[in-house]
Amino acid sequence: MKTTFTATRLYTPVEEIQNPLLIVEDGMIAEVSSRAAKEVPGNSTLVDFGDAALAPGFVDIHMHGGAGLDLMRALPSELPRLGRFLTTHGVTGYFPTTVAAPLDATCAALGRLADSIEAASNATKDDPVQARPLGIHLEGPFLSHKRRGVHPPENLLEPTIAIFDRLWQAARGHVKMLTIAPEIPGAMEVIPEAAKRGVCVSIGHSDAEMPIAKAAVAAGARHATHTFNAMRPLDHREPGIIGEVLSDDGITADLIADGIHVDPAVVKVFLEAKGPERAVLITDGISATGMPDGRYKLGPIEVDVKDGKCTANGSLAGSVLTMDRAVRNVTKFSNWGLRDAVRAATFNPAKAVGLSGNYGVLAAGARADFNVLSSEGNVIKTIVGGEGF
Ligand SMILES: [Zn+2]
Repeated sequence: MKTTFTATRLYTPVEEIQNPLLIVEDGMIAEVSSRAAKEVPGNSTLVDFGDAALAPGFVDIHMHGGAGLDLMRALPSELPRLGRFLTTHGVTGYFPTTVAAPLDATCAALGRLADSIEAASNATKDDPVQARPLGIHLEGPFLSHKRRGVHPPENLLEPTIAIFDRLWQAARGHVKMLTIAPEIPGAMEVIPEAAKRGVCVSIGHSDAEMPIAKAAVAAGARHATHTFNAMRPLDHREPGIIGEVLSDDGITADLIADGIHVDPAVVKVFLEAKGPERAVLITDGISATGMPDGRYKLGPIEVDVKDGKCTANGSLAGSVLTMDRAVRNVTKFSNWGLRDAVRAATFNPAKAVGLSGNYGVLAAGARADFNVLSSEGNVIKTIVGGEGF
């Protein structure tokens, strides 16, 4: 079955196409073109979204849950509920992210998440439209005690290849991202080993000075986790890890653009430093996302949520941000247009973590996971595998 989608514009997102044609066949994008360059194929159904924009589905590479579900505890049978919630905010693919927990509990969670990832990759078109877990992000246990945020100190470990391998085996190789503090003993052995296995090594939860952060990049790190948060602060004469993250054009970096974790003025500075090619938006969303204020679980941590702010013992503990709001915030906090903001939520994260199969882009051969957006960046519809319109 062939369907042709059209709207006013399309963000690939590297390019913008006016009066686009997005031709989908068997859940995959067959062709991306414009009405000026191509006729609507006669054997396809035409779906016209009027004055909207077509854009790839959002990819959230750092999230801990939502819709009341905590991903360290959730059963594979519960994940479709989260997946359906996420599509209402434009997310089509996400990385379940762990927090520092006792090693046995973490390994049990990794096994369940691996089950979910494998089940999602075997989904059929009869399944409801839902965002899919695409890989696991290990946030911890290799974090700095000084910059741990709310990760419990008793669960932090010094990195060893043996511990990393235990986590890797428990996750059956589905670990795609590792946040690590490069200054802690053992980190410089684990960073190249993880990079060798295709993991996106991300520096974060770190008190590193600039030379150590640079050495981590030389050893294989290529990304930074929630820039500014849980990092040694920037000083103009002692730039530290943030100086490296903002100045190194060889690495990508992500940010929580909720206006709470980072002041809007500093969000703008970050976007200008990393540019539309290297900036990545994440939510760091927890189970409370999409739920009323109250008390929620983040792995082993109790979190209080009030007026959109998540705290545990006075420290920020994740967010209730959604990817669509992060995109809209970027257009409000900076002079970036919707296309660049969308790029930071789609193509950039997919590329940063090395997702195979042309994910996060509207191009021939990519999965037909895309959003229909209003000019303000509101999600009108989310289409997964060509279904849901
Ligand atoms: Zn997190």
